[in-house]
Amino acid sequence: MKNTAFIAILCMLAISLGGGWTVKDRTPVPTEDKDKEIKARVAAIMEKMDLADKVGEMTQLTLDMLSVGEPFNLASPHQLDSAKLRKALVELRVGSILNIGASEYTVEHWNEIIRTIQRIATTEKASGIPVIYGIDAIHGTNFTTGANLHPQQLGMAASFNPAMAEELAEMTAYQTRASHIPWTFSPVMDLGRDPRWSRIWETFGEDVHLVTQMGVAMVKGFEGDDISNDYRVASCLKHFLGYSSPLRGKDRTQAWIPERQLREYFLPSFQAAVDAGASTIMICSGEMNGIPVHNNEKILTDILRKEMGFEGLAVTDWNDINFLYQRHRTAKDYKEAIKQAINAGIDMSMVPADLEFPVLLKELVEEGEIPISRIDEAVERILTVKVRLGLFENPYPKAEYPDFGGEKYSQLCLEAAQQSVILAKNEKNILPLAKNKKILVTGPTANSMIPLNGGWTHTWQGDDASRQTKGKKNILQAIQAKIGESNVRYVPGTKIVNKVDSEIDIKAAVRAAKKVDVIVLCLGEFSYTEGMGDMNDLNLPMPQQKLVKALAATGKPMVAVMTEGRPRIISAIEPELDGILVSFLLGDEGGLAIADVLFGDVNPSGKFPITYPRFANDLVTYDHKGTDEIGGPFGFNPQFEFGSGLSYTSFEYSKLKLNRSVYRKNDPIEISVNLKNTGSRTGTEVVQVFVKDHVASITPPVKRLRAFKRVELENEFEEVLTFTIMPSELSFVGRDNKWVLEPGKFSVMVGDQKVDFELK
Ligand code: BGC
Repeated sequence: MKNTAFIAILCMLAISLGGGWTVKDRTPVPTEDKDKEIKARVAAIMEKMDLADKVGEMTQLTLDMLSVGEPFNLASPHQLDSAKLRKALVELRVGSILNIGASEYTVEHWNEIIRTIQRIATTEKASGIPVIYGIDAIHGTNFTTGANLHPQQLGMAASFNPAMAEELAEMTAYQTRASHIPWTFSPVMDLGRDPRWSRIWETFGEDVHLVTQMGVAMVKGFEGDDISNDYRVASCLKHFLGYSSPLRGKDRTQAWIPERQLREYFLPSFQAAVDAGASTIMICSGEMNGIPVHNNEKILTDILRKEMGFEGLAVTDWNDINFLYQRHRTAKDYKEAIKQAINAGIDMSMVPADLEFPVLLKELVEEGEIPISRIDEAVERILTVKVRLGLFENPYPKAEYPDFGGEKYSQLCLEAAQQSVILAKNEKNILPLAKNKKILVTGPTANSMIPLNGGWTHTWQGDDASRQTKGKKNILQAIQAKIGESNVRYVPGTKIVNKVDSEIDIKAAVRAAKKVDVIVLCLGEFSYTEGMGDMNDLNLPMPQQKLVKALAATGKPMVAVMTEGRPRIISAIEPELDGILVSFLLGDEGGLAIADVLFGDVNPSGKFPITYPRFANDLVTYDHKGTDEIGGPFGFNPQFEFGSGLSYTSFEYSKLKLNRSVYRKNDPIEISVNLKNTGSRTGTEVVQVFVKDHVASITPPVKRLRAFKRVELENEFEEVLTFTIMPSELSFVGRDNKWVLEPGKFSVMVGDQKVDFELK
């Protein structure tokens, strides 16, 4: 299936006359020539633009501002408002629109919205420049009805499968373009190092290498080689920089990240995605070290542009210029806030809901508060993306999208979800369950699609039960379909309404449990994102814990399925559970994937992309320092370790070898290790290569992940795996905030194997 899609896309590329291929000989135009051509074209467009055109281009409004009704309280069904359209697009010459109004729309309605916007922009607006429409298509085209929805990023990260991430992003590009939208605000390149943070599930987890590999793969999947292709979109890296580690764990609260950590941990994933060619970047809403990122010239210009070499478009996050005076109070009013942000390096403001931005920005330029060179630089970047997207030739695509929402992509999303399920505990091989067993399904997350999908699903918060994709099965329905309704009893026991947990009838669940062989407890969380997901206690809510304890008294075997966006603490109930599956928001096929793993049709292979804490006061990542391990019972003691995850088969590692024992800084470190499937069925192992630096001038972490590979092996089979890492990959940011590679002793660790080497 993969190959067919690939060949089809190649063929379409080959027959398209644009996109880097000359008409006559079909040889690719060299990138440099193409860049020159685009530059010249943008310069020619800019020559005809006046200041009003330019500030308009730098303005991005929400669709609400063009629609009938009040912003954020639109008339239903959604309708564009022709007076508002003309005010924004023709009078104010607005260059970009985003998002959805209240909730998702059909493909047809999206097509109508975009065609209308583009018709007005290209025929009535003075400059005739098409609009660039952007949307959060973050786990599939999640704001178009019927699109295929894949796991959220934390779920995907559990698969340790960048190739799959690339395919999923390619699918999203296809379905987003089918909706006539050419720009997605994805992927999140932030590190998810604080499990309290309500957006950790939007990240690829806590490790720099994993986040980088997965994120770069998504950028490639979205953009391909040429974003003018009708099946590709521009990506947007977010949220640059330092968004994901708020001190209090609450969204958009202050972060304090020393420059050294910022450079060593938070910056490399963005750098790699910039190097991979990402077209746009979104700026972090938070404040770091007392400075809002939106007016931090050092981050936005010195680091992002001069050091990292990013040439694309930098857009603010939602309302963030307003927040400079409304929230951060580094500016006295809106006008001063605009001046600060634009002078610091912002190209486009996600305003999103006032019409003053372009007016005030124009005044600031006329008053000499913002140099016209800054405006020209921003507009050049915006137009470059528009030209590269082919919007001037095709304000909306003309292609057909027969696979939108279809079986081909459902299968891909199912495969991704299956690879993302983590088997965390399996006492006495309780799992897989036999299909003829009588099962009690209980718990608040069993009978709903909401906990499988999480936020940014059909609506911003993903909590509208009436809007779930038709025909998809939640966990209960998938179990019933697999083993027959007569084998399944369902008693919810507790419920979650508006993020509040409460008991329904735990006693009824206990009564039902007495009549079955096994209890499947569906625990966890419903959907949320951003500030709406803030919370004060990472422990699994008490009603759920009470349900587990009451059922434990029956003595029946119990398997928990944790469906959650962040690791809710289960240490008080874990001893009662014989088996535990963890699923971090698997998407629309998640119910099927969980049932496949529960009953052994799929052998689980997911691994934890974050450390699963045991205690709410002990939130430590796997790459912690030696000092985190002192303190006896208060040392590092997670519930489940980063990179861990069980299988229904067993694997044995042996013969870990290096090509040398002493290396100089340009010598590749070639690692080989044998992996054998010693169990009784085919399985997939994620082989992880960790390196420990023994002595360094900055306290070294206990280990860092430097390479990984998913390997499928039939039982009894053995494979020799090889990895190459360069010594430079073992550098760290030193006392002067610069990267340094220090000689000394290192250890390579793979599975239970370890071998030392020396770097001279
Ligand atoms: C979020 C971004 C998102 C943007 C547009 C913001 O509130 O932080 O991640 O892309 O809204 O919807």
